[in-house]
Amino acid sequence: MRTEQAVSVRLSDYRPPDWLVETVDLDVSLDPTHTVVRARLRLKPNPHAAAPAPVVLDGDELQLRSIRLDGAALAADAYVATPDGLTIPQPPNRAFVLEIETALDPSANTKLMGLYRSGNAYTTQCEAEGFRRITYFPDRPDVMAVFTTRIEADKAEAPVLLANGNMTAAGDIPGSTRHFAVWHDPFPKPSYLFALVGGVLGVVADSFTTMSGREVALKIFVEPGKETRAAYAMGALKRSMRWDEQAFGREYDLDIFMIVAVSHFNMGAMENKGLNIFNDKNVLASPETATDQDFNSVEAIIAHEYFHNWTGNRITCRDWFQLCLKEGLTVFRDQEFTSDIRSRPVKRIADVRALRGHQFVEDAGPLAHPVRPEAYREISNFYTSTIYEKGAEVVRMLKTLLGPERFRAGMDLYFVRHDGRAATVDEFIACFANAAKYDLTQFMLWYRQSGTPELVVQGNHDAGAKTYTLEITQILPPTPGQPVKEPMAMPFAIGFLGPDGKDRPVMLADGRRLDRGVLTLTKAKENFVFSGLDERPVVSLNRGFSAPVKLTANLNDSDLAFLAAHDSDPFNRWQAMQSLATALLIENVAAHRANSPKRAADALAHALGAVLEDHNLEPAFAAQAMTLPSEGDIAREIGRDVDPDAIFAARRELRAEIGRKLATVIADTCHRMTDRGPFSPDAASAGRRALKNVCLDLLATADEATGVVRAAAQYRDADNMTDRIAALATLSHHPVPERQAALDDFYRRYDGDALVIDKWFGLQAAIPETDTLARVKSLTADPAFSLSNPNRVRALIGNFAQANQTQFNRRDGEGYDFHADTMLALDAINPQVAARLMTAFRSWRALEPGRRDKAEAALKRVAAGASLSRDLHDIVARTLGTG
Ligand SMILES: [Zn+2]
Repeated sequence: MRTEQAVSVRLSDYRPPDWLVETVDLDVSLDPTHTVVRARLRLKPNPHAAAPAPVVLDGDELQLRSIRLDGAALAADAYVATPDGLTIPQPPNRAFVLEIETALDPSANTKLMGLYRSGNAYTTQCEAEGFRRITYFPDRPDVMAVFTTRIEADKAEAPVLLANGNMTAAGDIPGSTRHFAVWHDPFPKPSYLFALVGGVLGVVADSFTTMSGREVALKIFVEPGKETRAAYAMGALKRSMRWDEQAFGREYDLDIFMIVAVSHFNMGAMENKGLNIFNDKNVLASPETATDQDFNSVEAIIAHEYFHNWTGNRITCRDWFQLCLKEGLTVFRDQEFTSDIRSRPVKRIADVRALRGHQFVEDAGPLAHPVRPEAYREISNFYTSTIYEKGAEVVRMLKTLLGPERFRAGMDLYFVRHDGRAATVDEFIACFANAAKYDLTQFMLWYRQSGTPELVVQGNHDAGAKTYTLEITQILPPTPGQPVKEPMAMPFAIGFLGPDGKDRPVMLADGRRLDRGVLTLTKAKENFVFSGLDERPVVSLNRGFSAPVKLTANLNDSDLAFLAAHDSDPFNRWQAMQSLATALLIENVAAHRANSPKRAADALAHALGAVLEDHNLEPAFAAQAMTLPSEGDIAREIGRDVDPDAIFAARRELRAEIGRKLATVIADTCHRMTDRGPFSPDAASAGRRALKNVCLDLLATADEATGVVRAAAQYRDADNMTDRIAALATLSHHPVPERQAALDDFYRRYDGDALVIDKWFGLQAAIPETDTLARVKSLTADPAFSLSNPNRVRALIGNFAQANQTQFNRRDGEGYDFHADTMLALDAINPQVAARLMTAFRSWRALEPGRRDKAEAALKRVAAGASLSRDLHDIVARTLGTG
């Protein structure tokens, strides 16, 4: 195994490739256990390489059958082939053609990297380093080649044959039951964007006319019989294509765009040129089987992968250290898309919740790393929230600093300068510096320094001088490998609310109005003075979450209540309520542990009551307001000596208190938000359902008897999955007979529908009760459970470890032991997914000492496991701080 040989790859070691590949002609003869791949590579020396260099091709578990150079068989002593690589020590010092034949077993490929079988189809996943599992190749993103792919298969087994680009030929193979198809992709691309699919698939077809009037065929391939569930994804695709033309001037380039949904997939989806391959969870959606949240994420992920055609494919990454160049930027683009077509404030709130819930936690623990890492041992462990979500925040800050026009000018320059190339983060930032004539040297620290900056803000009003002074201090906590940091440059949007709750102009001491209310922070400590403020204003800080930081300010409860009621920035209205709740929860967690009396939630309940009574507010916004900080949020804010049981108890008591105090208006809201008409997945209808279901859950927490009756009735009468699963989730938190009855009914009703049964597994794994571990263990023996299906593993094991704080963190350590054992078993099947789920331990050092010791013991047991994959070994070693 590779555990011992795992070496660090360093950004500072980057060298351009010695050999380039001009064209790749692949001939893939599909067979369930014996697929033969013939690759014909036209190689040429890189003019930038210093001297004649050996040809070194990557491989991974490959089996070489033959090799020819310019048509002649290569002598056995002219090359070295192992499963992990192929080297020609003394190649000709000129362009030549290399023909390589390898054999693969797609059915045995449980890692789901390279070519594998999923359900009725052969499929590929090549990012980041999967192409080397198909053939020997310089498998790095700065080698961009033109691919032509011929696929051959049995007609009955794989009537549909797809690859990147446009189809140029197809037909039967005379005298056999086999057929073939040839696909040509005219756009040079790195090997990680290669894809092929063969199988029995149903198709939904449509078309799109681009802004220049070209007709593009659109096809979505799904498991036969599920075509109707792809209609929403098709609509989302067309909305994405139009939006990218309007918002960024980007037009689609091939004659056809295809999406294939597969049931076994390590990631969410993959942007292969012209042939996106999706986890079917992110394509299939119908009212009966998908929740509003599912519809929402189908739309966002379809958009994300489509947007990669320009930010990722046309312009790709020079090396994997630049992963955020395509991911951070494309997440930013999909966030903007959702904001434009749904609700911008609600989208921002949801994104910030996710950022804090995942990325801030990552930044605060042993797995913290910069947006552009300096080194890695296993690149698949860097598909993280830091690269994606913090990477998107950095692009958003750039836009806030420069303003929309100059930001767009920088993007336009980036597309002009780098189209068809593999670029770096520095080149990307240089486009904005040049187009906007703005010095971004200090801003680059966002790519290099890990950790979440903390801002401490002190505001003071001087009634005599009619001025207001903000003193802002930046704190940059140490992270692994980065004990000392420099202050960051960031946009900090502010506003002043007068006593009437209205915005006052934000004027600097010299009387100039501050552009868009955005300050630019650059120093460890700085003062800003504002003029023209006769009366003490309430200051609204970091509006729209303009900088991804932790904020401490001298705002008291009545200031927060005032902001909650009046702030013209909806994000900060929500934030004020969250801040009130967080402070209260932290106090009550401590009180719970000390057995002392809790503080009552009067100010918070008043603010939330006002939200429910304000019928002008978007219901989706009100639903966000009514959702208290999660257990994970509270643990993160407490930061050390964390007791998950005390957090759970304090949060549950607060929810019950709010449910009791606002019982009347909550019941009224439930009633008001109930739609009688036919189901529609649009954002406004989804918002009403979200608010109704948050209210139902609060009612049930406050008054179990009444709430359970209501939830059971909603479960029974629901005509859509959103309402049914919300009712079941509420029931699942109450140990009543109605719970098991509904769970059993749900299983019977949806038996065989994998994506829906995943929800059934997931809900049970999240029940915050002591017998849940036993329940989860027995569910692993259910015939429907399998370690080889990532969606199922994430539903049961992932939800237990990540969505069930009290039971994963059981005081007796049995939750940790179970997770450790499961990860060891999973590692032998699918190391990528095992490594991903192992990150559930990333906050172990913040736990109270008893749990911390038990978590450490479980981690050490995994670290000592025999023949660990490089993926799992890397995560465990970094989590323990030993690697
Ligand atoms: Zn992406």
